[in-house]
Amino acid sequence: MRGNVWIARGFLIFSQLTALIIVVMVGQKPQENQVITSMPAIPADIASSVVAVEKVTQTIPSPQINKFELVANYQPRYEISWAHPNNYGQRYAQDVNGVPVNNQSIIVIHETVNSATSAINNFQTPHNNENAQVSYHTLIKLDGTVIYIVPPKFRAFGAGNSVFRGAKGIETVKTHTQFPPSVNNFAYHVAFETPLDGRNNSKSHSGYTQVQYNSLAWLIAQSSVPENRITTHKAVDRSGSRIDPRSFDRQKFFDILKFYRQ
Ligand SMILES: [Zn+2]
Repeated sequence: MRGNVWIARGFLIFSQLTALIIVVMVGQKPQENQVITSMPAIPADIASSVVAVEKVTQTIPSPQINKFELVANYQPRYEISWAHPNNYGQRYAQDVNGVPVNNQSIIVIHETVNSATSAINNFQTPHNNENAQVSYHTLIKLDGTVIYIVPPKFRAFGAGNSVFRGAKGIETVKTHTQFPPSVNNFAYHVAFETPLDGRNNSKSHSGYTQVQYNSLAWLIAQSSVPENRITTHKAVDRSGSRIDPRSFDRQKFFDILKFYRQ
């Protein structure tokens, strides 16, 4: 009798263990179409830009005297004004169809059109309407101050309905069933504050300040994103409505960037 009781207890324990193992295994089964909660591999070339600010005194080169002598020791002032999390998201490791994506980073240059304060207020306001959710990673005020808004490891909502036409062809990633594909998943968005005479729909304005160019070049020099992957909102836009940054002196910017990357 006693032996039968132990056999019965043993069977019971075995059954419970089996059930537990099944429960654990089912629980671990990956669920398809689940939103990615763990951070996908983020390109290291832009992931370090915020951290780099604190190392500025070490990272500024001491170049030979040349035409950029006046900006050789330039160190931008910076502020942090994080956007509301509602206005940015994760960078995805796969698109809406489950296809893995691993685009190299690009940098997209914008302008605010309105004031920097107005843009930041908008980014810090939670918007329930997804069409109104917008952000840049970084903004550069007229006085050259760099404002960090969205950490680089996150996907800022800077250029909906966009494509990058690079050396490898067209690049764009669809991450939302309701919205067109965009470059946001692999883009770092940085915007100039627009000068006072450009707060309108004109095709051009008086342009950006020298310190804005210096700060933009300094910021981008903290990354290893190659020149041929630095672009503008106008160039990646597919809606036909974006023309920023207007009056951007491309040559001036790349000359200063080369200087900082020496
Ligand atoms: Zn833009």
